[in-house]
Amino acid sequence: MNLHYLMNHEKHYITLNNYLRAHYGEKIYKISLNPGFTCPNRDGKVDTTGCLFCSSLKSGDFSGDVSLSLKAQFASVKERMQAKWEEGSYIAYLQAGTNTYAPFDILENTFSTLLNLDEKVKIISIATRPDEIYPEVVELLKKLKTQKTVWVELGLQSIHPKTYRFFHRGYENDSFERAVKLLHEANIDIIVHIINGLPYETKDMMLETVKYLAAFPIQGIKIHMLHVMKDTPFGEMYLKEPFSLLTLKEYVEITAEQLRYLPTSIVIHRLTGDAPISLLIAPEWTKRKFVVLNEIDKYMRKENIWQGDLVK
Ligand code: SF4
Repeated sequence: MNLHYLMNHEKHYITLNNYLRAHYGEKIYKISLNPGFTCPNRDGKVDTTGCLFCSSLKSGDFSGDVSLSLKAQFASVKERMQAKWEEGSYIAYLQAGTNTYAPFDILENTFSTLLNLDEKVKIISIATRPDEIYPEVVELLKKLKTQKTVWVELGLQSIHPKTYRFFHRGYENDSFERAVKLLHEANIDIIVHIINGLPYETKDMMLETVKYLAAFPIQGIKIHMLHVMKDTPFGEMYLKEPFSLLTLKEYVEITAEQLRYLPTSIVIHRLTGDAPISLLIAPEWTKRKFVVLNEIDKYMRKENIWQGDLVK
C-alpha cells in the first residue's frame, strides 16, 4: 500500500502516528506489557551472554511490572494514560524478551489474554527473534489475527555478519528471511528493528542494511541509535575503553539517507530509542528525543529529501 499521502511539508517520512490516525481515526497509545518470557540468547538455548547491548530487563526497560498479571499491567498503565492524555485506543505490546519463546500452552494462554484485555485494544504487537518464528507459532498468530490486527516485531539490528557476530545476535540472516516468508504468507504485518552506530559499522554498512530490508515485504521499521547502557556487556566494554559512537549530526544524516531507500509502503515506527536516563552511559544526545526528531525533520527539509526518493 503506497502511503505517500501521509507525508507533508513538515514530515518527509511516514510516521506511525500519522498512519494510525489515518487508519483508525483517533490517537492510538502503545502499552508495553511484560509476560516474563526469557530469551534463547540468554537462557542457553542459543547462548547465555545475550546481545551485548541488551539490558537485564531484556530490552524491555519501559515494560509493565512483571510481578503483575498482564491484565493488571494493562489496567495500571491505561489508568495513568487516561489521567494525562486525550481519549484513544491501544496497542498491547509485548516488548521485553522473546515473546514467542515459551511452552506452547503458555503462548496460547498469553495471546488469548491479550485478546480479552480491553475492547479498545486495536492492535497486538509481539516482539521476538526471527529464529523463534516457526510454523506452529505462525498458526497461533493467524488465529489471533482473526480477531485483532497483529504485528510481529523482529530484532535484526544489522545485516552484516561481522557486526552481528560481534554483538552476539545468535542467528544468521537466513533465519530472518525464513521468518519474513512465513509471516508474509500468513499476511501478518512485520516490523523490523535496526540499530545505527553499532561498533565498527560504517555509514555504507548502515545504508546496506536498509537497502536489504527494502526488498522484503515488511510494513514497518524502527531505527535507533545504539545506547550504551550500564549493566550491559557493551557498557562494561565502553567504560574500560570507549569505542567511537555517532554524533547527533552523523546520526541525523545517516538516518535521513536511510529513509530515502525505504519505499513509501513502510511506516517509520521510530527514529529514536528509549533508554532509561539512569542507565544511559552514552551518547548523551540520545536523551533529547525531540531534538533528534526535529534535527532529522530540519535536515530532510533543508536538503529536500523524502522517504523513498531513491527507491528504484
Ligand atoms: S534477542 Fe532481544 S531479548 Fe534476547 S538478548 Fe538480544 S536484545 Fe535481548
